[in-house]
Amino acid sequence: MLTFRRFTFIFFIVLLLFNLARIFLCHGNCILREYMGEFYILWTAIYLGVSVALAFFPCSGFHHPVRCSGHTSAKEIALTFDDGPSPQTSSLLDVLESKNATATFFVTGKSLEQHNEVAKQIHSKGHIIGNHTWSHSYWFDFYAPGKMYSEMTRTASLIESVTSRKPLFFRPPYGVINPMLSKALGRTPYTVVCWSIRSFDTTTPDPLVVQKRILGKLKPGAIIVLHDHTVFTQQNLCELIDRIYSKGFSIVPLDKLLQTTAYA
Ligand SMILES: [Zn+2]
Repeated sequence: MLTFRRFTFIFFIVLLLFNLARIFLCHGNCILREYMGEFYILWTAIYLGVSVALAFFPCSGFHHPVRCSGHTSAKEIALTFDDGPSPQTSSLLDVLESKNATATFFVTGKSLEQHNEVAKQIHSKGHIIGNHTWSHSYWFDFYAPGKMYSEMTRTASLIESVTSRKPLFFRPPYGVINPMLSKALGRTPYTVVCWSIRSFDTTTPDPLVVQKRILGKLKPGAIIVLHDHTVFTQQNLCELIDRIYSKGFSIVPLDKLLQTTAYA
């Protein structure tokens, strides 16, 4: 698998080989010498372009190992809800309970601080709580690794105060993983979890489009990402779960799907 570390190694090896060839093979006017500047610019642009682009495709595993689905042939999927808890989360819990479904809530520390009672409800009803940073800032991906790490640990402490156990699931804001976040994650025991089905429930106004998008991509081991507060989730979760069941799938806890533990 192509990883950032390997790609960086290849980047410097190619630069080294280019320079060795230029020094030892070029006599007088030579194409390697003539286009040396263009080569440096092009190769560096490729290196930076690939590294930045793949930060937005976490399931590539380029910057950090990530779980995006379960390794199973059984018709089992997991539901995940991001960015809560919020006042709207309680109604989702009622729907999940009525449908006998267990989900995972990737919460932010700042929301958890505001809606601690809701988080307790999530936990008491048997759902999993994962870490989704403290601030979920637009600028999070520009933070230094130390600041990212402190956001994670601050949120983890708050989750632990609710669950009495340390969370082991982490989801990066916006699903972006760059070298700084990878470095911060290297100091943690987290299993990084993204998704195989992105609902785009925050940006798609038509609930039928969201539902069709989700149902069309259902396959064994799928992980669906939704958000607590969206109109789609609030108004259509019940129907969505019914449709998932009618296709013969069952909804299982994320730790069971990934065959790993959600808490230390
Ligand atoms: Zn989020």
